[in-house]
Amino acid sequence: MPFNGIEYSINEQNTVILLKKACPYCDKSYQSNQKAANHIVSIHQKKVDRLVSGNRSFGMYNKANIQKYERLGFSIVVHYGCVSCKETFAVKEALRKHCDLIHIISSQPGNGYLKYFV
Ligand SMILES: [Zn+2]
Ligand SMILES: [Zn+2]
Repeated sequence: MPFNGIEYSINEQNTVILLKKACPYCDKSYQSNQKAANHIVSIHQKKVDRLVSGNRSFGMYNKANIQKYERLGFSIVVHYGCVSCKETFAVKEALRKHCDLIHIISSQPGNGYLKYFV
């Protein structure tokens, strides 16, 4: 059903948080936490621990969702999702600090790699 702007009363206060998966240490974005962890260990020489993943209550920051929510009149707020746990951050710098502080278990590459990424 195409949205024609009449069926919904649009509240300008409406904002939706969309979750962007991006490397905390550079601008690369990724599709899965697994890929992110592999990227971080190979590019940044940091090994992150992996917590049990669960469903975040946010939609993903992708083209489909952006278009969907823009059409519905939402303001989109981007949050950055942690690669290891369910935390999200409005500022990427905060995500980086969080990862450094909580999830980096080794900065030595190649040590026990498979243990964490199988
Ligand atoms: Zn990176
Ligand atoms: Zn985390």
